[in-house]
Amino acid sequence: MTTAPSFPDSVAGLLEQARSAGGGLESLEAPPATRAELAHESSAIAATLCLRGVSSGDRVAIVSPNDATMVTAFFGIVSCASCAPLNPAYGRAEFDFYLDDLKPRLLVVYDALDTPAREAARVRGIECIELGRAPGLASGMVTLDGERPSTGAAAGQRLDEIALLLHTSGTTARPKLVPLTHRNLIHSARHIAATLSLGPEDRSLTVMPLFHIHGLVAGILAPLGAGGTVIVPPGFLAPSFATWLARFRPTWYTAVPTMHQAILERLSSADARAMRMQAPLRFVRSSSAAMTPQTIRDIEATLGVPVIESYGMTEASHQMSSNPLPPGERKPGSVGMAAGPEVGIMSASGVLLPPDEIGEVVIRGPNVTSGYLENPAANANAFTNGWFRTGDQGCIGADGYLTLTGRLKELINRAGEKVAPLEVDAVLAEHPAVAQALTFGMPHALLGEDVAAAVVAKPGAYVTEGELRGFVAERLAFFKVPRQIRIVAKLPVGATGKLQRRGMAERLGMVAEIPVISGDTTAARNAVEEIVAAVWSEILRVAVPGVHENFFALGGDSMLATRTVAQLGALLHVEMPLLAFFDAPTVAGVARTLEPLLAGDGANA
Ligand code: AMP
Repeated sequence: MTTAPSFPDSVAGLLEQARSAGGGLESLEAPPATRAELAHESSAIAATLCLRGVSSGDRVAIVSPNDATMVTAFFGIVSCASCAPLNPAYGRAEFDFYLDDLKPRLLVVYDALDTPAREAARVRGIECIELGRAPGLASGMVTLDGERPSTGAAAGQRLDEIALLLHTSGTTARPKLVPLTHRNLIHSARHIAATLSLGPEDRSLTVMPLFHIHGLVAGILAPLGAGGTVIVPPGFLAPSFATWLARFRPTWYTAVPTMHQAILERLSSADARAMRMQAPLRFVRSSSAAMTPQTIRDIEATLGVPVIESYGMTEASHQMSSNPLPPGERKPGSVGMAAGPEVGIMSASGVLLPPDEIGEVVIRGPNVTSGYLENPAANANAFTNGWFRTGDQGCIGADGYLTLTGRLKELINRAGEKVAPLEVDAVLAEHPAVAQALTFGMPHALLGEDVAAAVVAKPGAYVTEGELRGFVAERLAFFKVPRQIRIVAKLPVGATGKLQRRGMAERLGMVAEIPVISGDTTAARNAVEEIVAAVWSEILRVAVPGVHENFFALGGDSMLATRTVAQLGALLHVEMPLLAFFDAPTVAGVARTLEPLLAGDGANA
């Protein structure tokens, strides 16, 4: 008979406690690390940080792409301080904001990453430490500033200390800072492990970004805490997915709906299907954005395993509700039953509503944050009678299943990446020709939603869509740049005089066009296309793509796009605007943009 493990004394305790359970960390580049090696490396990282002057109560920010070293660095940091992972795709202005807001004692940066974070830290006098892979050693073994971390003692952390600090985008222009304690994270990891019956035999292929709560808690803490193994490839790459399934034989993975859709497209070929037959998948999990019942059915039919849709958010340390594993009933279109915290539905006046009535989803429980940092106004709005208001709208049936019906808050959910429209509005409004700007989500077949905006120009002023997009691109990360901007005479207002974001895309007939022919095999037709296809193939680690395939459908993201443009620039001695890449993300499209540049003055390629 097995006894339930006792509650660990900190997040790092999840590793220590399960030391005897086997499992560990695997990656593409290095041999597997055992759980004991992981725990040892994390303590060594913590000891090194302590020697650098980091102590309990300090904040340590980290900027790294998905990599096994980020996992050990995370455990090391939370063993001596609060960890603030930042999106490596951020631009300079974003790092300026986040570093000012966080005031970290130290910044850890992945050494192979070219990022403005270093310069943003330098001008603020924040010390920067370079995190690298220790050559020839197991997955997750690191160097810090080129040296192996020193072993020694690091101060332990207590359950109610802040382990993780994440910014959430709210309806206000200023992102809110969510503190999550060791207690919050351990409870959430356990809730997820219980929902999914995770154990030592389980192998999780962790493709979600590790700067997001979904990746960290569902992808790392839950499986490792349950004694299992975590496999960390370099983020999500759809074309490599089937190969990873065959090579690592995961028993499950968790992802956002767009990733599932991209996988689905790839796995429909007979080859990929044969490959996935080799993977002992038990189920796949989807969270962080709405999954359509049709996609659930398609994935279940293709993979032959249940899709478990769950509902999560940063403030809840991720999971709030989930559909159950069989023999429990999965209900496509519903995000399942409370799976950790208590979940209720509340009226605007703060009354809990009976079954089937629509209201705001509210939660309370040990995984829920106790409140945003230094933001009493947000906390006054967010909590009612001890319940946290999620900002999501929905109803709970008599059977306990929760269905989401909309968002009270107006975040744009771009493939799970949340964009606060007010932040984009604020940037657009800084343009001298703009009188009013309204940012909203528009439907996008691959991303679910993409960013769009409508703008009213100042009297007598003239501005083009391209100029405005360039203006935003200089100030915000690429995923926040509106894909389409309409110049309109006036913006719609509601009864209370508030601008109406909802319904804007339909009103203006805006739908994202995606230049994509999935599975296209048209070979490069000229030298420029050949070069572009070769660079994509190298950066995306895929076979040479057809010229009409979409970079993002192949698993590319904004960071990989930046690298691709830089590499093409270096090879061809031209400067290609990044926005042009986003506008036509196919080999043919990029080659078309490059050709006039190559023919122009100064091009010598
Ligand atoms: P985040 O804090 O980035 O995890 O975003 C949380 C938000 O994502 C929630 O408040 C919901 O609006 C949305 N979300 C998460 N899971 C789902 C789901 N399964 N279906 C629909 N929306 C979801």
